[in-house]
Amino acid sequence: MKTKRNPNCIFCQIIEGKIPCYKIYEDETTLAFLDISKDVEGHTLVIPKKHQASMQDATNCTLHNVFKTVNKICKHYYAKGYTGMRIQINSGETVGQSVHHLHVHILPTKATQPLKEPATKPLQINLEELANLLRLP
Ligand code: 5GP
Ligand code: ZN
Repeated sequence: MKTKRNPNCIFCQIIEGKIPCYKIYEDETTLAFLDISKDVEGHTLVIPKKHQASMQDATNCTLHNVFKTVNKICKHYYAKGYTGMRIQINSGETVGQSVHHLHVHILPTKATQPLKEPATKPLQINLEELANLLRLP
């Protein structure tokens, strides 16, 4: 598949394997991995493998592929015991987009782990162990 990457983009570097990540799922057009911030257990990012900065330049095809993966992961996380997911896209710096490669946040929650807003301090999470538990085949 032809891909368009931006060498200065941290998520493009993750796709290329130049920066490690805790992978949850990958297919031909998308990659999902745990967010590094440890603000919410299971916080997952879904990205297209083609570099598109934000919703301003996202194509229908990219959004279709990305949301297909979001849907797949959410179903899997429900099966793993999470009971709710917040799905969020920050598009543009004025809403806090800090990485300019389109990404969908999946914020899973449970009755025992409600979302705290704003997040206080990083949770005690071992991302490697969590990724091993949540990874899709
Ligand atoms: P934004 O604020 O752009 O919507 O979200 C960017 C997200 O990317 C943040 O939640 C941040 O924690 C995450 N992030 C930034 N750099 C890295 C990284 O190198 N690895 C991973 N796994 N997540 C990252
Ligand atoms: Zn990129």
